[in-house]
Amino acid sequence: SKELGKNQVQYYSHDFHSKMQKRIELENELKLAIDQDEFKLFYQPQVDAKTESLVGVEALIRWEHKQRGLLLPDDFIPLAEESHLIVDIGRWVINKACEQFSYWSKLPQAENVTFTIAVNLSAKQLKDNGLAKYLADCMAAYGLAGKYIELELTESSLEDSFEAIEMLHELSKTGVRLALDDFGMGYSSLSQLKKFPFEILKIDKYFVQDPGEIDSGLLAAICAFAHSLGYETVAEGIETQEQKEACKALNVDRLQGFLFAKPMPAEELKNNWLTH
Ligand code: C2E
Ligand code: CA
Ligand code: CA
Ligand code: CA
Repeated sequence: SKELGKNQVQYYSHDFHSKMQKRIELENELKLAIDQDEFKLFYQPQVDAKTESLVGVEALIRWEHKQRGLLLPDDFIPLAEESHLIVDIGRWVINKACEQFSYWSKLPQAENVTFTIAVNLSAKQLKDNGLAKYLADCMAAYGLAGKYIELELTESSLEDSFEAIEMLHELSKTGVRLALDDFGMGYSSLSQLKKFPFEILKIDKYFVQDPGEIDSGLLAAICAFAHSLGYETVAEGIETQEQKEACKALNVDRLQGFLFAKPMPAEELKNNWLTH
């Protein structure tokens, strides 16, 4: 009836209104989160496929929200990207990761451990003109050589624009290495890949986790492609022995996933992974 229709509209607009309200609230809180020291980096180990020893960690952001608890990146990174807060948050991440890595590398038990730290960048950060200088300043402040740092950009977010490619080159000139994240899920043309200064391809968990993909040879094809073009490879999302063995058999260089460890606070990484 007409009556019901009206109620539905009211219900819908009320729902929409409260969603907007929440979004505005979250955005305002996000603006304060850096100053209030509410972000935290978790770290997930990456192991060498042959020796299964630690060769890298990926920094993954968390937000310790006073009311809502521990928020995952999917809960706030999209909003940070839309509101451009990602520029400051992204800089905070770079600085924190450098500081943490520098602390670890000075520990006596880390003496014989050589590993890298990977930081996720949003494609929106490539519009931050001071980014490469900021990164270089952080590296200098903590005394870190570029070879210890990797920057990950997701394939689907990358813009094939002159400015984006320029910034990627500027970043790689600081000596850090660039990794293409979620490889296989986004970028349409493989022939375009060489335009970008990536050295590492992170094979998306979709190809690693679906047994159908393993059987169909898609994973094998992606690995062969990556290696033939000289990329180093990292397989992410490894949860089972079977997935691990499949990646090893395909000569993937590094492995990452819950089978080895979930992302964890810095202290836990130190206690469980940085021992002789
Ligand atoms: P990503 O870069 O692809 O990171 C891998 C995600 O997969 C992480 O989720 C990680 O916890 C999860 N993961 C790791 N191993 C496994 C596994 O074996 N199985 C499954 N099912 N999942 C696994 P997380 O931490 O929730 O991060 C989600 C995404 O948020 C990241 O995806 C990355 O794109 C983005 N992100 C994280 N930290 C940052 C950051 O500091 N800055 C920016 N711009 N984005 C970030
Ligand atoms: Ca990543
Ligand atoms: Ca990924
Ligand atoms: Ca992802």
